[in-house]
Amino acid sequence: MSVWAARDHHRFEAAGRPFVYLAPSAAVFALDDPADKVLASLSQAPATSEELVTRLSEHMSGTAVEQTLAELARVQAVGMLAPARAEPQPTGGTRPKVIPLAQFPLSTMVLNVTNQCNLSCTYCYEYGEDKIVDTQNGRKPKFMSEETARQSVDFMLKESRSNPVAHLTFFGGETLLNFPVLRKTIDYARRRAAELGKQVDFSLTTNATLLKPEIIEFLADEQVGVTISIDGPREVQDRFRVFHNGSGSYDVVEPKIRELLARHRSRPIGARVTLTAGGATGTLLRQYQDDLPMLFIVSQADLQVSEGGEDTLAIDVVRAEGYKCARCWRTVDTISSSPDTDGLCERCVAALGGSQAA
Ligand code: SF4
Repeated sequence: MSVWAARDHHRFEAAGRPFVYLAPSAAVFALDDPADKVLASLSQAPATSEELVTRLSEHMSGTAVEQTLAELARVQAVGMLAPARAEPQPTGGTRPKVIPLAQFPLSTMVLNVTNQCNLSCTYCYEYGEDKIVDTQNGRKPKFMSEETARQSVDFMLKESRSNPVAHLTFFGGETLLNFPVLRKTIDYARRRAAELGKQVDFSLTTNATLLKPEIIEFLADEQVGVTISIDGPREVQDRFRVFHNGSGSYDVVEPKIRELLARHRSRPIGARVTLTAGGATGTLLRQYQDDLPMLFIVSQADLQVSEGGEDTLAIDVVRAEGYKCARCWRTVDTISSSPDTDGLCERCVAALGGSQAA
């Protein structure tokens, strides 16, 4: 019988409403009352759906519990526990209580190569109270050093254990402000991985302002996955994604993105859109996607936009694009929901010798 459990999450309240931050996907969702109750109950103790229906019978119908479970499973807020393995019974004496340790190799590492940025987006956390690192007065380095990046690569390769592929993502601030270290880190990681009989898959996020021919050439040659932070067409981009003097960035980034799309063909180029009230709607994004064929990924700066209206269409754009496999990071139509291969694409499930139940 399937037992449901809450996944790693953090519940919080904003504007008088409950929200949940999901650690595995770094996504934030507003919780309606049924979802809040189901998640709270599973956080206290895992349960079968029948047990959950009984637990919550005073508050909601069995059908509502089942539907809410399905919704929470779809966004990976809850998952099924792997069935307990039958352990061999000892022939005599007391049965020892031994819980076998599970192998948990590191699959992805994100290197925050700088906290500096040449843009000053209106919603950026780097300019707010939730700034990640205080770089005022030189208290913390503004750029990751080559040595720190090397040590991080060594750590990643060691902790990836028997995984044949490790994933390394570069993030910022504006990642390309530290391009020299990024380039050397990729060279080093490839070399070290080859010595260990492994591979490293690279990706980065950039605001595209610093893309230039030699950088584009490097990213294409090295097959680095690129995600562009962009909010959509000019009128939206220039309202939110501005330089420090307040001028819009659209005219700077648009030709660079076109050049990247023309040259870098080995992997789809992602577009990370930040939803804000008054920002791009789903309709606008769809039109824009026809012009700039990128894979749109939406995140939210303003939680209110998830409440309805046209903005929710933007999330539909992303859903229509499929899922990202938790192992190879390819975008696929379906991922497995089996307890032992949860979140993996069909190819990775097969590579691991498992069976897929997408
Ligand atoms: S590009 Fe990213 S890091 Fe830079 S200001 Fe905009 S949101 Fe912040």
